[in-house]
Amino acid sequence: MPPMDEAAIHAILSRVILSRRLPGRTKLGEVRLAELFGVSRERIRKVLHRLGHERLIDVVKNRGAFTVAPDLSEIHVVFEARRILEGGIAAHLAERLTDAGMLRLREHVEREAEALRSGDRATWLKLSAEFHVLLAELTENPIIVQQARELVGRTTMLATFFESSSGSQCGCDEHRAVFRALAAGERGRAVRAMSSHLAQVETRLKPFACTDAGPDLDSLIGEYAAELGGEVSVG
Ligand SMILES: [Zn+2]
Repeated sequence: MPPMDEAAIHAILSRVILSRRLPGRTKLGEVRLAELFGVSRERIRKVLHRLGHERLIDVVKNRGAFTVAPDLSEIHVVFEARRILEGGIAAHLAERLTDAGMLRLREHVEREAEALRSGDRATWLKLSAEFHVLLAELTENPIIVQQARELVGRTTMLATFFESSSGSQCGCDEHRAVFRALAAGERGRAVRAMSSHLAQVETRLKPFACTDAGPDLDSLIGEYAAELGGEVSVG
């Protein structure tokens, strides 16, 4: 079997992390991962950097990569900031959204629904975060885009570690409500739809307790690699 490429390794590690079965601050050692996947440390390092960039893990200079362990009090501050920023984005777009922008939003909402239907949690999480970044992009204001990316990134990281009590019955309908209000050009309704969506996402996040007695990193990698049709040298 040829060595796995970076995309395959990234897909497996994303699933391991998003499964939320590893305790916070678990070390993701380059040497061990290189052994498991049968690739060079450089290749592992690239994948870890990408995961760090996606805020799925913490990459600490000179210390390595770790699963994240976010602070509970951070949730409220982050969501309040998002309601202020994204309520403003919704108000702005309700009056200025172009037909092309409308089409991009419609297609995005449909892709989210499709990911949810097929039970692909990793893709769905990614798409539902991108919905918010897409709205920011449609303002065509680079400062707004940068702020939205930062806040959405922090939320993705929080969502990784705080169990959603209603599972994946996410914001698909809520995103559609935002989209419909924007398509109708109704400013007040768009702001309310966005604020209530973000409030509901916040409410759905519950602290996720992960016991140390759960499966370890090696066996989780073996499990998800097998699920994706790959093979690693566990044991
Ligand atoms: Zn959303």
